[in-house]
Amino acid sequence: MPDKKTASFMRSLCLGQIEEEILLPYPEPTVQEKETLSAVVASLKAMLAPHERDFAAWDAAAEMPAAFVRELKEAGLFGLVVPEAHGGMGLGATAYARVLQEIGRYDGSTALTVGAHSSIGMRGLLLFGTAEQRARYLPRLATGELVAAFCLTEPGAGSDAAGIKTTAVRDGGDWVLNGEKIWITNGGIADLFTVFAKTSLDGRGHITAFVVTRDMKGVTSGKHEDKMGIRASSTTSVAFEDVRVPAANVLGEVGKGFKVAMRILNAGRTGLGGGCVGGMKRLIELASAHARERVQFGRPLAKFETIRHKLGRMVVDCYAAESVVNLVAGLVDRGYEEVAVESAVSKVLATEALWRTADEALQIAGGAGYMRELPYERAVRDSRVNRIFEGTNEILRLFIALAAVNDVSDELADLAESMRGVLADPIKGFGLLSDYAKRRASLATGLGRPKGRFTLIAAQLAEEARQFEDQARALALAADRLLRRHGKRIVDEQLACRRLADAMIDLFALAAILARVSTRIEDHGETAAAPERDVLRAFAAEARGRVDAALAGIDADGERRLLVLGDHVLESGRYGWDNL
Ligand SMILES: Cc1cc2nc3c(=O)[nH]c(=O)nc-3n(C[C@H](O)[C@H](O)[C@H](O)COP(=O)(O)OP(=O)(O)OC[C@H]3O[C@@H](n4cnc5c(N)ncnc54)[C@H](O)[C@@H]3O)c2cc1C
Repeated sequence: MPDKKTASFMRSLCLGQIEEEILLPYPEPTVQEKETLSAVVASLKAMLAPHERDFAAWDAAAEMPAAFVRELKEAGLFGLVVPEAHGGMGLGATAYARVLQEIGRYDGSTALTVGAHSSIGMRGLLLFGTAEQRARYLPRLATGELVAAFCLTEPGAGSDAAGIKTTAVRDGGDWVLNGEKIWITNGGIADLFTVFAKTSLDGRGHITAFVVTRDMKGVTSGKHEDKMGIRASSTTSVAFEDVRVPAANVLGEVGKGFKVAMRILNAGRTGLGGGCVGGMKRLIELASAHARERVQFGRPLAKFETIRHKLGRMVVDCYAAESVVNLVAGLVDRGYEEVAVESAVSKVLATEALWRTADEALQIAGGAGYMRELPYERAVRDSRVNRIFEGTNEILRLFIALAAVNDVSDELADLAESMRGVLADPIKGFGLLSDYAKRRASLATGLGRPKGRFTLIAAQLAEEARQFEDQARALALAADRLLRRHGKRIVDEQLACRRLADAMIDLFALAAILARVSTRIEDHGETAAAPERDVLRAFAAEARGRVDAALAGIDADGERRLLVLGDHVLESGRYGWDNL
């Protein structure tokens, strides 16, 4: 069995190994979990559906009434992930993602308000809080008496989070905090802030996380930002002026705050993914109803291939995102610790799938979709931000690719080490060397590769399983080639990294869908699984072309022409071929 502390499906994949025990059986809720979740989902529906018109009005007015936030608190929605011992519901990652899915169906702003509190605002306390900190804050966070926010971004530090300028200087038993954070979700309604500040001024990297509460003197929040979407959710700046924070409020170790921030963001990504899946399910329902009702050329839109094709694509996107989000959440619930790459993949995949779905649902609605009367344009506006926050999708793609390549480079370093070893100790060194050489040779030929094949996938899915195995081998070879070609400079080869990440994202989705459909066949039989088999076929067919193109593109120079054109614009500051 894989070691839950270190095993990662995607990282192994880049080394040419298919760690299928991580995927199979695909996680399904138990009968009891299903009952509990169904009850929660039903009560959420009863609570949120009557607010359908309000959500549109609150979006237009860019505010969420305090009475509605109270309603959310009374429904227990601020205690979803707080352990039962501290008064919360103690939901695991899978159940939490499912609840956010349900909220995401109705309103992006509400999903974000609840999500920012649980996924990132208080997550630091859950992951790193001492027993005393947890006892002090979690019960009040569970009831919503305290709403939480996550304060990392600053005017000069967005993607480059390590560049923050907020400082915390030790003074007796306190730390004195100064600085300003921007675009903080829940900034205007939060009472507890997880704040990241520099605790050493002698360079980058010495960041510490603090729990700051609004009652500390010197904490202020700015105006409600006027945003494109998720307009009712509170987004404000939060300033800290000579705020005295007791040393007992340091979260994790002093100087290890960057790790705290990254762990929080990693853990939060399946919640966001769940919200996206909920949004997609709702849009699929709306778009299919519209396609059935709207008549053009004497027939309902639903009769036209183009429209049915769009609906089919939405289903595949939604199923892929759901499969990946549930798989990653299931890994977290089963105790796997190395899920950073997988959760980054789930964020990129789900946010882009929702974006495409919102765009196409609006397109199916035509001109009506563009009118504020209907919910499509709000869905488009609300879904746009998901590709920007909690790590932009560009940065996450670089992270996904570099994490994979890093493992290959470890292997190559081992190889270099064993070359030296061969000279120093021929027997020991040669063992390592031949091990690596064997793996390289089997990767290249596809023969005798350890863990190069699925053995647990249902026999009916052999064709898609073979496709995955072949493309996984091509991925591992591409990662290896990339690293040999560029060495340490790989970090600057962003186009190649992006392509590698694209291939990895598609392959992880294919693996998740394969595992899900396979488990469905094993548990419920081939006939029951037939519609899902169709989804797998459709996804696999499209992914085959995309993965091949992405991997081929790594070696092609075509894209570099765009860099030249980009440079041209950067030099002149404008489009250079206007014909007047
Ligand atoms: C509505 C909203 C809510 C938010 N809520 C929170 C919150 O609660 N807490 C919080 O701390 N922050 C929050 N943020 C901030 C969010 O996390 C940042 O906007 C995000 O991290 C990106 O930073 P930036 O906006 O400064 O963009 P930049 O970092 O300036 O990036 C701009 C563009 O350049 C790209 N880019 C940047 N660096 C590179 C690179 N090295 N290579 C290639 N491309 C690159 C990016 O992908 C992006 O496309 C929120 C933002 C919004 C819009």
